[in-house]
Amino acid sequence: MVVINKSTHDKCWRGCREKGTLEHCWWECRLVQPLWRTVWSFLKKLKMELPFDPLIPLLGIYPQKIETPIRKDICTPIFIAAQFTIVKIWKQPKCPSADEWTKKPWYIYMMEYYAAVKKKELLPFVTAWIDLERIMLSEISQSEKDKYHMISLICGL
Ligand SMILES: [Zn+2]
Repeated sequence: MVVINKSTHDKCWRGCREKGTLEHCWWECRLVQPLWRTVWSFLKKLKMELPFDPLIPLLGIYPQKIETPIRKDICTPIFIAAQFTIVKIWKQPKCPSADEWTKKPWYIYMMEYYAAVKKKELLPFVTAWIDLERIMLSEISQSEKDKYHMISLICGL
């Protein structure tokens, strides 16, 4: 998914002075951790409690025993959105804002919406996303809100 240029030095590009291993850049870096914590707090609000483990969002490996029912159809787009955000800021010494990554699922949402319409499996899909929309709208800034309400209107939710 990501093309990583062979770095001339092995330090983390974000300037945190740690060794820039793949695991570090995707998960451990203290400049990426706040993003993942935001992701987890979203999942918690959606009543999904997952262990804070990089295997889940990065490799899609879920633990065998999970306390709460996990909707992978919701988790996956959220994790992909977070990964996109990390890629986007890959070489910038800053942490992605919550705003930046909350925008992403909407793109995926729209794509999946049309796929669902085709398959006539719309209803369960929409109910799952209404919850997510409500939570996300409460998190993002007002200027962005208007834009996303548009999507609701278009979709007739
Ligand atoms: Zn780092």
